[in-house]
Amino acid sequence: ASFNELGLSENIVRAVTEQGYTSPTPIQLQAIPAVIKGGDLLAGAQTGTGKTAGFTLPILQRLSTSANAPKDKTSRRPIRALVLTPTRELAAQVEESVNTYGKYVPLNSGVIFGGVGINPQIKLLKQGVDILVATPGRLLDHHQQGTIDLRNIEILVLDEADRMLDMGFIHDIKKVLAILPAKRQNLLFSATFSDEIKTLADRLLDNPAMIEV
Ligand code: AMP
Repeated sequence: ASFNELGLSENIVRAVTEQGYTSPTPIQLQAIPAVIKGGDLLAGAQTGTGKTAGFTLPILQRLSTSANAPKDKTSRRPIRALVLTPTRELAAQVEESVNTYGKYVPLNSGVIFGGVGINPQIKLLKQGVDILVATPGRLLDHHQQGTIDLRNIEILVLDEADRMLDMGFIHDIKKVLAILPAKRQNLLFSATFSDEIKTLADRLLDNPAMIEV
């Protein structure tokens, strides 16, 4: 199947084609239609499989075609999708992918992580982004300071969830889950499936589509 046949709009396929991608990877073939449908997803995938596009492309599709989609990239708007990653490096990479694939859709993205000044992030959050990529600790810092509004989150992604647990983020993740609206779409990506991940998946996901590559 081509990217078009997976249910992605022309303006998303155009950005992907410009990246030189000619066909979807196995994880993309399965994840893209599943996420566009709107249900939860449990995905077993290593880095290098194309997993990032596997969740960013259908998120761009959903947010840009919903009734409350923004008309341009400039107006202020609430955060509608939240991607949590274990490290700053991964957060920055994922946000860059969202930005690249979302070049022709009227959606904005931003990234926040620890170890850098908080003020530029406060400014970014004030301006408003549709898709926020974050590391858990700094996200909670913003919540405690009242500089972030998470009440409009429609989609949550836990990327490299096993690494997040290895790094001791389980408590932070639980705190974040407690803040988010109860009704939302949840996507969990992990390279490995320990009992701890299975417990988290059970708690987080409602009747998820399951894919493994
Ligand atoms: P990821 O597993 O998300 O870290 O992606 C690994 C690499 O594969 C990245 O450099 C992507 O740009 C690239 N990539 C993702 N999807 C495709 C595709 N369908 N065709 C070719 N390259 C891709």
